[in-house]
Amino acid sequence: MLELDAYKGEIKPTWCPGCGDFAVLNATLKALQSLQIEPWNVLTVSGIGCSSNFPHFLSAYGFHGIHGRAIPVASGAKLANPALTVIATGGDGDGFGIGCGHFVHAMRRNLDLTYVVMDNQIYGLTTGQASPTSEMGMKTKSTPEGVIEEPINPIALALASGATFVSRGFSGDVKGLTEIMVAAIQHKGFSLVDVLSPCVTYNKDNTYEWFRARVYRLDKEGHDPADIRKAWDRAVEWPAFDSSKERIPTGIFYRKEGKPSYEDLEPALKAGPLTKQPLGLPADLQKKLLGDFY
Ligand code: SF4
Repeated sequence: MLELDAYKGEIKPTWCPGCGDFAVLNATLKALQSLQIEPWNVLTVSGIGCSSNFPHFLSAYGFHGIHGRAIPVASGAKLANPALTVIATGGDGDGFGIGCGHFVHAMRRNLDLTYVVMDNQIYGLTTGQASPTSEMGMKTKSTPEGVIEEPINPIALALASGATFVSRGFSGDVKGLTEIMVAAIQHKGFSLVDVLSPCVTYNKDNTYEWFRARVYRLDKEGHDPADIRKAWDRAVEWPAFDSSKERIPTGIFYRKEGKPSYEDLEPALKAGPLTKQPLGLPADLQKKLLGDFY
């Protein structure tokens, strides 16, 4: 039986006290421990941003990459070794801005990845510029007179792009977020976990208090995640997308089981994981190419 400490990294998080990302880390550690997935079978991959420091804080394999490219790296790792539990992490700027093309294509391919977006509706690492999920009118360093663009709706985008698991968590509800994380990791196919993860330093609009006054849990209101039409109705439930709505749903919007993942269909993997297949290169060249990893 692996205890929670087995999943904690030696490096302590450097986030601002109160940052919502702490709750995401805790929920991820708890989810992995409750599923008893060995740390050496877990890979977390990130791009750039405050939340993208995530892989440093787990005792598991980790890759801290470049801006917006968590999904391509995670995809490559999963295709090379489908036995790995691969979790891509990052923020709304990284995933829904710079990396948005990768996000959409990974969903339509139904790669078996869990993608956790710590969505704080601002760029935190660069000290407070508008992000793709900042709401209209929000005043930031880059928009002193207010944002003039509509925000991206990650839940609706995921539904439209073919994701087979679409969810939203809240850092103010670690228990609910852990339940979502467990289900997302267990799901065979692409799982989005969009987490309302307040930036306490630079976003003074979307605070814990603001969310607590609005969030509710879908599972408490009889939502059926198998019904995509109902998922669409809930996806636009947010004051920024429909001014007649005051509440914000959290939980699993949509889950489709049984659809083959990209790895299931990829012909190159029919003979087994790439990591188990011979490279087909002379031994000396193989050794040279792999260098220190050999
Ligand atoms: Fe978290 Fe914001 Fe601080 Fe970054 S700047 S660590 S997002 S609170």
